[in-house]
Amino acid sequence: MVDTTPPGRALLLAQFPELADYARPSLRLHPRRGHPTTGESSVGGPLLWPVDEPWPTCDRDDHELVADGSGSFGEPVVMACVLQLYRRDLPAGILPAPGWAFPNGTDLLQVLWCPTPHEGTYGPCIRVLWRAEAQVGTALTANPPLNVSSEDLGFDNLAPRPCLIRPETVVDFPPIACLHPGQVDGSGDSGLLLGKLPAHLERACLG
Ligand SMILES: [Zn+2]
Repeated sequence: MVDTTPPGRALLLAQFPELADYARPSLRLHPRRGHPTTGESSVGGPLLWPVDEPWPTCDRDDHELVADGSGSFGEPVVMACVLQLYRRDLPAGILPAPGWAFPNGTDLLQVLWCPTPHEGTYGPCIRVLWRAEAQVGTALTANPPLNVSSEDLGFDNLAPRPCLIRPETVVDFPPIACLHPGQVDGSGDSGLLLGKLPAHLERACLG
């Protein structure tokens, strides 16, 4: 099966040609529930992780969901795997684009995060690693179990479930606005806009 993004952007560009100046290459992952292995790109799947390398933990004391308000769970929080992306799985096309070049000869991107919200961002704190697959050596056969679950603490589940991915290159554009078009009355109140595009263009797209 091939996952593709509907060509809606062509319609958008036809109506708002100025948007072409803000086009940027992006990657859609198209995660689908499955049983990825360490040798596959995945969301929430097992990472290709050296057996002799400590698994990342978060020992910050600004966690939001701690019952006693201390911000600490009393032990380091085991980080959850979020993404593993092999360079070989990047589709041909507009990538590698600036910002997508794997640095220093690496060919594997791994992203983990602490699966509970932190003060300030009210989101997880993130760890990003770049590896060379050939240098990993003996790898773990499974990710370590998590010791803190945001879902058990009454928050959205921040530990992704295992999914296989089928990356697709797409042309993306800056976000326009998160409000319903009916909330913008065209009076020039730019406070309702995100400001990623010129106000007149952003407002026109909302119409
Ligand atoms: Zn944390």
